[in-house]
Amino acid sequence: MKPATLAVHAGAAAAVPGEPVLSPLVPATSFHAHPDAIGFSANDLTSAAPHFYARWSNPTAELLEARLAALDGGEAALSFASGMAAVSGLFLHLLQSGDHLVLSEVCYAGVAELAHDILPRYGIAVTAIDSSDLAAVAAAIRPETRLVHIETPANPILRLADIAAIAEIAHARGAALSVDSTMATPVATRPLDLGADFVVHSLTKYACGHGDALGGAVIGRAAAIADLRKFAGIHFGATISPFAAWLILRGLETLPARMALHQANAAAVVAFLNTHPRVARVWWPGSADHPQAELARRQMRNFSGMVAFSAAAGAALSRQIADRVKLFSYAVSLGKTRSLIFYIPTDDLLRSSFHLEGAAAQAYRAATGNGTFRLSIGLEDPEDLIADLAQALA
Ligand code: PLP
Repeated sequence: MKPATLAVHAGAAAAVPGEPVLSPLVPATSFHAHPDAIGFSANDLTSAAPHFYARWSNPTAELLEARLAALDGGEAALSFASGMAAVSGLFLHLLQSGDHLVLSEVCYAGVAELAHDILPRYGIAVTAIDSSDLAAVAAAIRPETRLVHIETPANPILRLADIAAIAEIAHARGAALSVDSTMATPVATRPLDLGADFVVHSLTKYACGHGDALGGAVIGRAAAIADLRKFAGIHFGATISPFAAWLILRGLETLPARMALHQANAAAVVAFLNTHPRVARVWWPGSADHPQAELARRQMRNFSGMVAFSAAAGAALSRQIADRVKLFSYAVSLGKTRSLIFYIPTDDLLRSSFHLEGAAAQAYRAATGNGTFRLSIGLEDPEDLIADLAQALA
């Protein structure tokens, strides 16, 4: 089945007269058990085990996981309480003291900070590289590299990474590849089809789509996800709430339709920004002048609604925009029905999140200047969005 059909139907129970058409929200924390069916320890958990305790599995999260696995073309999925819970669970499951992680140097600030500030405390070494540069990825891999983690498109400048090429490089050296595909969503890109071992999503963003639930997921091969459930799911305990899972399931039903509209609205806003005298540079994977336009066309079936731009005197402009916007919300996060704009100062990002120095810092500063405005283009009418930006930028 095609994505638009999977988003509505994958994993749903067969029709039974009298049963609800809509899959019910099940908030129960424990389920009737039998001594022959399941053991008390997570170590005894088998894939055939019935629901037992909601931190192990629950029917609402199970349906969400089946739908996510189908959309991303994976064997299995594990849902988490947030995107960060999914990333940290995966990292701490796959990596142990003495191991090495190769990471996209430009990525969501929380992931960069987890890698740079927290993993070394557990004896895990981290090398951050420009993952748009395949030679840099290859050069960073060491014998003890267990995982290469890339984000594509990457926060905030929508830098892309070639998933198929990096999968080959990582696998040839015995490392696994995980891809944070939050901004692409399975509508644009299916990293597992391109050779990745794991896909990670913050479901808080486009998957939910309405800005009313936190969630995360890791999708991959069944045996690997079963191990992840025992280790990171059950023992770290960052389980998604059934209500959040249910809201995200409802959001997923419209994901393919929403992504088409996000992309069309972003194209209109980008055309406006490209001609605006106060705008220095615009980034959007759908633009012909995106630095990796060819890769974007090869790897993305939808260019999403994420746009970034830089401008002179960005800090002062950010105050003007925050005061003036009427439709856009000056707020973080992304992927919602409503449009968002937020300013990210380059120095803050380089110092506190990316930890970039020397030539890498210079290259990032040369591209972004003092900062970037990150826009998540929503589902409002594009003419109204452009009018709002025009008066906010004037
Ligand atoms: N990955 C990406 C690409 C993100 O943009 C975010 C959040 O903005 C996360 C992961 C973390 O997700 P969450 O906020 O759901 O923990």
